[in-house]
Amino acid sequence: MSSPASLPESAIVPPTGFHLMVKPAGSTCNLDCRYCFFLSKEALYPSGSHRMSDETLRAYIGQLLESNPAPEVTIAWQGGEPTLMGLPFFERAVALAEASKRPGQRLQHTIQTNGIALDDEWCAFLAARNFLVGLSVDGPRELHDAYRLTRAGKGSFDLVLNGWRALRRHGVEFNILCTVNAANEAHGRRVYRFLRDDLEARFVQFIPIVERATEQTLAVAERGWRVSPHGKRPLYTQTGGLVTRRSVSSAGYGRFLVDVFEEWVRRDVGRVFVQLFDVTLEALFGRHLLCVHAPACGGALALEHNGDVYACDHFVEPDYRLGNLHATHLRELVGSPRQRDFGQAKHETLTRQCRGCEVRSLCHGGCPKDRFAAAADGEEGHNYLCAGLHAFFAHATPAMRLMAGLLRQRRPPATIMALMKARDERAGPYSPCSCAGGAKLKFCHGRV
Ligand code: SF4
Ligand code: SF4
Repeated sequence: MSSPASLPESAIVPPTGFHLMVKPAGSTCNLDCRYCFFLSKEALYPSGSHRMSDETLRAYIGQLLESNPAPEVTIAWQGGEPTLMGLPFFERAVALAEASKRPGQRLQHTIQTNGIALDDEWCAFLAARNFLVGLSVDGPRELHDAYRLTRAGKGSFDLVLNGWRALRRHGVEFNILCTVNAANEAHGRRVYRFLRDDLEARFVQFIPIVERATEQTLAVAERGWRVSPHGKRPLYTQTGGLVTRRSVSSAGYGRFLVDVFEEWVRRDVGRVFVQLFDVTLEALFGRHLLCVHAPACGGALALEHNGDVYACDHFVEPDYRLGNLHATHLRELVGSPRQRDFGQAKHETLTRQCRGCEVRSLCHGGCPKDRFAAAADGEEGHNYLCAGLHAFFAHATPAMRLMAGLLRQRRPPATIMALMKARDERAGPYSPCSCAGGAKLKFCHGRV
């Protein structure tokens, strides 16, 4: 592994391919998740329909296929809630994409959904078209229902489970997107076991909830993003050095990841794929699969329902609007100097603490949206999640290096599970658990 200091500047290059997250129904949603500041983005488009027209759909598909050099192109729908567009929209979209693809181009259709609209008709379509479905679940009922509420303020767990059952009935490939927030941050292993055992998930990604606010906006932000005292919703922007009570704490995020990692590394290597663990292992080979932990970013853009293109889904706000694909070709917007600068800034704005950090080659300072804290030496612009990120990367590095070594020897990384078992047996059941949570192994990650 290259040490942080030895990372060559030539490694700091923006991604050649790009990924576009498309919001066909804008930020409109049929749920009212309390932490979802994306709901506030409706304020950007106060008039007119928040539904993608067929004209914009045609422009998007055509320009995406023309401008993407990769042999496999992902067509990624998200929101808001994309299923609000109705099934016929997606039937038209898939047919259009299949008819427009270049010779040799393969298409991967994905959709990120809260799952509550998924029924047999939807799932038959998703299965027939080989969609990869991302389903949002935050853990077992009481953890999921802490913030993922219906518009009537009730928990959405049962509705989501109905959608999950429909996916399973039709054999649709799915992964779980689970946010890490104030309610579930202390329950990493429990959340993970629920996703693995009850939902039979084989692909899982964890997303930290960090809702920023200023002293002026905090009180409004704490109420959630759909309602406001005046019937108008404030537009969420990535500003302010405060966070809402729903946000994950930095240390809590680290504990959550370590908790999940200790379970995974004993039982599930090669069987369950946790995005951040894959990303970390790949980083040891110099490959960066996720913008958040890559040296530079700028290759993950967002497309609004009306054709507006933004630098990133987390920066759908006026200052980061690159243009509209009805006026400027997507290729030009993606390759524009503005977007290149946006991506390079991820590296150029690293704090001194990040530049000298021993896990920088794995972390790369995290996402710029979370860089609003002070570093240990007082420098501003440091990652709010740093304590947690550092705890996780430092904790996981020895095992990750072992797995990387196994891969280099062309041996399966799953071999590490036997090594962990032997180590646990040598230590004995009453030794402190290796998660460093303070409990004995037998009552912690040693428990079957
Ligand atoms: S701002 Fe964050 S989420 Fe957006 S592309 Fe950069 S690293 Fe990725
Ligand atoms: S955010 Fe923290 S853990 Fe990540 S590179 Fe910077 S100092 Fe290291």
